[in-house]
Amino acid sequence: MSIMTLRGNRPKFGNLIGIRARFVILALILVTPLMLDRVRVLENTRTRQIAAAGDELAELARRAASAQREVILAVEGVLKSSAYIYSAAADPDQGCTILRASMRPDLPWIRTLMITDKDGKIVCSTLPSIIGLDLSDREYFRRAMATSTFVVSDYIFTRTTNMPAIMAAYPATNFMSGKKVVIAATIDLSWMSQILAGRTERPGVSVLLVDGDGVVLAAHPENTLLVGQRLRETPLLDAVAAKEINLDSDEGSIVYKTADGEKQAVTFARVGGTRARMIVSTNEAKLLADIDGRIRTAYLQFAAVILLALSGAWFVGERLIIRPVKTMTDMAERFGRGDLSPPASNLGLPREFVPLLDAFNRMAGQLAERERELIASNNRLTVMASLDMISGLANRRGFQSRLDFEWLKAEQNGSELSLIMIDVDYFKLFNDTYGHPEGDACLGKIGDVLSTVAAQTQGFAARYGGEEFCVLVPGAESAKILEIADMIRASVQRLAIPHTMSGFGMVTISAGVAAIRPSDAIGPQELIDAADVSLYAAKRRGRNNIVSHTLIRSGDSDLSMAS
Ligand code: GH3
Ligand code: MG
Ligand code: MG
Repeated sequence: MSIMTLRGNRPKFGNLIGIRARFVILALILVTPLMLDRVRVLENTRTRQIAAAGDELAELARRAASAQREVILAVEGVLKSSAYIYSAAADPDQGCTILRASMRPDLPWIRTLMITDKDGKIVCSTLPSIIGLDLSDREYFRRAMATSTFVVSDYIFTRTTNMPAIMAAYPATNFMSGKKVVIAATIDLSWMSQILAGRTERPGVSVLLVDGDGVVLAAHPENTLLVGQRLRETPLLDAVAAKEINLDSDEGSIVYKTADGEKQAVTFARVGGTRARMIVSTNEAKLLADIDGRIRTAYLQFAAVILLALSGAWFVGERLIIRPVKTMTDMAERFGRGDLSPPASNLGLPREFVPLLDAFNRMAGQLAERERELIASNNRLTVMASLDMISGLANRRGFQSRLDFEWLKAEQNGSELSLIMIDVDYFKLFNDTYGHPEGDACLGKIGDVLSTVAAQTQGFAARYGGEEFCVLVPGAESAKILEIADMIRASVQRLAIPHTMSGFGMVTISAGVAAIRPSDAIGPQELIDAADVSLYAAKRRGRNNIVSHTLIRSGDSDLSMAS
C-alpha cells in the first residue's frame, strides 16, 4: 500500500468539525482579541492605579511629616522670641504680659503657652487652670534645663484634655535679675487630622501619626478610635508594628496581608527632628474596588459576548447552512423515492441556495421526462413481449395475464369464464407438404379469423403455442360459447386453405370448450386443463369438430366433467 493511500485514509481536521463548529470558531477568532484587549487595558489601568496610589501615598506621608516639621519650627520661633523678650525685660515678673503678646493668631496649633520657674512650677499660662502645676518631672523640662536649648517632647496626651499634643520648651534667663525660667508651649495635633482630611479622599486610605513608642496620636479617617492605642495592641496594625516600627529608616513601605486576607500597603515617613512617623496605609481591595468592579464587569461582558457570538454562530450555521442542506437532502431523497413533483415554494431558503434549488427542479423535470419515456418504452416492450408476431394475436404470456385478470373479475362478479382451445388439424403434414413459411402464413390467416371473432364476441384471442390457439370469453353462456367455437371452425374452413394430406382437403381446426365459475377453491389452470381435455376429445372424434365440457362444482373441492 502506498504512502498516498495511507494519507488519504487519515481523517482530516476539516472533516471532523461541522459547519456550525466552524462558524463558532470564526466567531471566537473575531470576538476574543477585542475582548481580551479590553480586559488587558483594564488590567493595565489597575496596575497603573496601584502604582499611582503608592506614589501618592508616599508623597502624602512626606508632606504631612514636613508640614509638622514646619509647625515645630514656627513654634520654636515663637518660644525663642518670647525668651528674648523675657531676657531683655526690665521686670521679669511681667512674664504673663509677654506671654500673651507672644500668642500669634496665625499659629492656631499653639494651644497653650506657659512659663515655669526653674523648679518646673507653672507660674504663668494662657490657660489659667494649669497655673501651679509642677512640670519638673517631665523629660522635656529636664532636657531644656540641662541643655539650655529648644527641645520638643515626644507626643503626649495632655492631662487636661487627653488630646494628643507635643510640648516644646525653651529656657530663658533674665539679664537684669538672673532669674531662669522655661517657656513652654502645648502644640495641638488636631490640625493634623485636618491636613490628613484634605489629602485622603481615596477610598481605603487611612493615615496615622504614631509616636516613637508606637502610640497612635492622630488617625484619619476610619481609625479615630485607634488614637491613644499602641500599634502592638491593635490587631489591625500589629503587622505594621512588627515589620515597620523597629526599622531605623526615615522612609519606607511594606505590603502585608491582614488577618482577613486583605492586602494592605503601608508607606511611612519620619517626622523630621522627632521619633514620630506618619503612616499611610491603603487597603488595596477598597482602593481598587472600582477598577476591580469594572474588570469583573468586563469579564462578564466577555463571557456574555462570547456566549452571544457562539449562539449567534450556531444559529447562523443552523439557519443558513444546515437547514437548507437538510431541505435539499430531503428533496433529493424524495426524488430517490420517485416523487419528482416540484416544491410548492422556494422553501424559505437563503438566496444563495436558489440556483441550487432551480438546478434540483430542472433535474427533477428531466428525470420525470426520462421516467415518462422509460414507462412508455417499457409499455411498448411489454406489449411486444406479449404479442405473437406470426398471428398478430397475444402470445402465451399475454394470454396468461389476461386469464388471471378475467379470473379475478369473474370471481368478484360471480360470473362464468369460458375458454375455447383450438388446434390446427394435421398441421405437421401441412408443413411437410407446403413448407414452413407456408405454414406460418396459414397460422397468420387463422390468427386473423380469431381476431375478428374475438372482436365480435368481446372475447380475447391468443396463440397458445405452436399451432394451438385459444379464445377467452367472459360471462357467456355455454350455448353461446359453443356457437362461437363453431363460428371459428366454420370460418377457418371457409378460408379453404388447401391441404391435400388432410381428409378434408383443406386446413381445418378442432376445438375444446370449457366454462367455469371461478372461486377460491380452484385456479385458472383448471379451466385450461378442462378445455384441453375437450380438445383432445374433439381430435379423437375425427377432427374439424367441437367438444364442450362443463365443469360442475360439487362441494368445495370435487370437480367433475359433464359433456
Ligand atoms: P393433429 O391433427 O393431431 O394436431 O396433428 P398435427 O400434425 O397438427 O400435430 P403435431 O403435434 O404432430 O404437429 C404439430 C406441428 O405444428 C409440428 C410443427 O411443425 C408445426 N408447427 C408448430 N409451430 C409452428 C410454426 O410456428 N410454424 C410452422 N410453420 N409450423 C409449426
Ligand atoms: Mg397440436
Ligand atoms: Mg395439430
